[in-house]
Amino acid sequence: METLRNASVPSALMGRPGGGMEHVDIALDRGRIVAITPHQPGPGRDLDHGLVLPAFVDIHTHLDKGHIWPRRQNPDGTWIGALNAVRGDRVGRWSATDVGRRMDFSLRAAYAHGTAAIRTHLDSFPPQHEISWSLFAEMRDKWRDRVELQGVALIDAEVLLDAPMLDAVARTVKAAGGLLGGSVAVHPRSKEAMLRLVEKAGDLGLDLDLHTDETGDPSAHALEHLAEAVLETGYTGHVLAGHCCVLTVQDEATQRRTIDKVARAGISVVSLPMCNMYLQDREPSGHATPVRRGVTLLHEFRAAGVKVAIASDNTRDPFYAYGDLDGLEVLREGARILHFDHPQDEAWSWARSNGADAAAIAGFGYRAQIEPGTPADLLLFRARNWTELFARPQADRVVLRNGHPIDTTLPDYRELDDLMEA
Ligand SMILES: [Zn+2]
Repeated sequence: METLRNASVPSALMGRPGGGMEHVDIALDRGRIVAITPHQPGPGRDLDHGLVLPAFVDIHTHLDKGHIWPRRQNPDGTWIGALNAVRGDRVGRWSATDVGRRMDFSLRAAYAHGTAAIRTHLDSFPPQHEISWSLFAEMRDKWRDRVELQGVALIDAEVLLDAPMLDAVARTVKAAGGLLGGSVAVHPRSKEAMLRLVEKAGDLGLDLDLHTDETGDPSAHALEHLAEAVLETGYTGHVLAGHCCVLTVQDEATQRRTIDKVARAGISVVSLPMCNMYLQDREPSGHATPVRRGVTLLHEFRAAGVKVAIASDNTRDPFYAYGDLDGLEVLREGARILHFDHPQDEAWSWARSNGADAAAIAGFGYRAQIEPGTPADLLLFRARNWTELFARPQADRVVLRNGHPIDTTLPDYRELDDLMEA
């Protein structure tokens, strides 16, 4: 039995009402939280009002693309530049060894930062689906006790509209216990692509996770088409839609109509603020200041009763030159970019968006909440409040997993040098 005494914990992260902070003592026994009580002096580890947060959940990542930047850069920083660069890298270079070593590197970084559950998209354009999904199943087993993993097949509209190819990918995903997904923005047959996808997922009993409308072109309506497909087919699986950037450049009537359909279809939404900042409204010459920054209408979705989350997205690949799967960076940048820092007494409820809310949306076993009975997967900070936490990077956190501090040394980029040769 050990007690973490004099801890500051936001009520929202303990599943309690109110947006404030509570000063509590957290009793741990055999790796689990056994009691949370108002602070009293006594024996144990005195945190001196330091913040305690639950370990992070990252519900949208791309572990298969991670860290290829040194050998395959984005030529101009645009979304299409990223797409073409990744395609060139994947064909020919994404062997099980290559993907596996980069994936393991990313997972070690995420674990050291204090992440306990990750969902990753996996490029599944045939024949890559056969390589990446068997590798993913191995990694999920290898990491089972440290990071709970989920995989999503990422394919484009051409594969969604090709019945035999869609079926081949969906059956691979089904066999591996994954989710079905895809990326669609402006496409003349986006309505049909969404319908084929939802029908296939319904037939095989698969959940869905999509990249929808990651564009500033207002003619994109994939999210609306996805919601219509769910409503029309009566599909009952869980659906998560990522990005949804286009809403910020559409008229108010379109915004309202789409949000209403998404709410009625029970679709959850994840915003990827850091990746959007990098890709959206970038002018290929590099000589124009971005104005439209792409983060979707997260406050409006939430107000409409839609479950929302924020997550990392890419790491050091052509879609995002930076990133290290650090949930605190996602939260800090998300707070600034999405303006969920005011009113301050409600702000902590947004900290659930890469914690308990994301875990609930994904159906992870890990709950990302500080409550009796849950594993003591906790992050201890010297910072005592919102402003101290987000003013500095806080790379010096203590990460407890099952009540024990882990080694938070990050992997060295040099490890991957031999994979980066031309
Ligand atoms: Zn993504």
